[in-house]
Amino acid sequence: MSTVPKVTRRLSKSRYLSGLQCAKRLYLEIHARELATPFDEGTQAILDAGTRVGELARERYPGGVLVDVEHFKVAEGLARTAGLLVDPSITVVCEGFIAFDDVVVRPDILVRTRGNRWRLIEVKSTSRVKDEHLHDLAIQAYVLTGAGLVLDATCLMHLNTGYLYPGGPLDLRQLFHDQELTREVADCQGEIPARLAAMRQVLAKPAPPAIEADDHCFAPYECPFWEHCTKGKSDRWIFHLPGSRQTFRDLMALGVQTIDDIPPGYSLQLIQQRVKDNVEWIGPGLRAALDTVEYPVHHLDFETLGSAIPLYPNTRPYQAIPVVEPHRVHGRPDPTRCLPVPGCPRPLRGVGRGAAAVSGQEGECLHLYRVRAERHHRARRSSSAPPPRPRPGL
Ligand code: SF4
Repeated sequence: MSTVPKVTRRLSKSRYLSGLQCAKRLYLEIHARELATPFDEGTQAILDAGTRVGELARERYPGGVLVDVEHFKVAEGLARTAGLLVDPSITVVCEGFIAFDDVVVRPDILVRTRGNRWRLIEVKSTSRVKDEHLHDLAIQAYVLTGAGLVLDATCLMHLNTGYLYPGGPLDLRQLFHDQELTREVADCQGEIPARLAAMRQVLAKPAPPAIEADDHCFAPYECPFWEHCTKGKSDRWIFHLPGSRQTFRDLMALGVQTIDDIPPGYSLQLIQQRVKDNVEWIGPGLRAALDTVEYPVHHLDFETLGSAIPLYPNTRPYQAIPVVEPHRVHGRPDPTRCLPVPGCPRPLRGVGRGAAAVSGQEGECLHLYRVRAERHHRARRSSSAPPPRPRPGL
């Protein structure tokens, strides 16, 4: 990254969206892709689920022609797509290549309507329309209209969480919900030329812009350069302060880098103050609560499984289905008494069976845990902050 990049590469929809999130991300994706953290299994599973949703969405349009060309073979994809668009016998084109203003997009589904016009459909494995989807559709509409296509409508096809899967083949008309967003998308298009110009200016620079990592690295998408951008940060980096994100932003604006640098007397929430104090804290009711426990203690940990596409009869897209982790006695895993986990054929029944299976003899104590789904992103979850100091005197 020490020399001026010689070529400002063609942009794509995903690069444009990256640039909207962070100019540094766009720069690194184009000039230093190797600095990205590879996908982990969880991320890959989410991507695979999105691919499956896309395949099902295309099945709603039997007879549609898929432009099955690898993304880097742009010239081939453009030529194949151009041939399909001028052929009036082709009514639906899926994942075609279309270029304008040195931006290439691949619309999920293009449906030919009356008068040789087109309905643009973007498929998302979400349960609703989000702000970022409007920008996603807007850059596609900008390219399509610039390339000469006349659009009748721009739409988002997302999953319908009201669909109760009865078992057997999926009812694709029920599984998906089409939402027309033509007007909203038009409102997002005006600034595209200026944004593209600004992105190209960034890309022509010899080094990435100096942008600090913070919450924007996870909104709307988790950035793969997080580890690169945060290496060398203290374990007590101010980003790891829990509670109100406004407090974090205010402290960042003051130039505070670590939790220990927060000025004395600065107004903090209780949880934030405890983290700043960095001293182990034990709730006043804990001792009494522990005194009620009778041994042996069985621990049963509930998690939930949520699939974009319903896996079991009488469930809906993204319905939280409880499953049970292996149960523990006195904190030790008991492999002989493992309970149903994701993949078992009847997880809903599994919970009931599991509770029955571990309820020991009369007088034994059964503790049930319902672990709330993590709301915070991975980086905050996996914070390597050291444990708090023991309380003085303990
Ligand atoms: S981690 Fe954050 S600052 Fe770094 S490139 Fe990504 S979005 Fe930008």
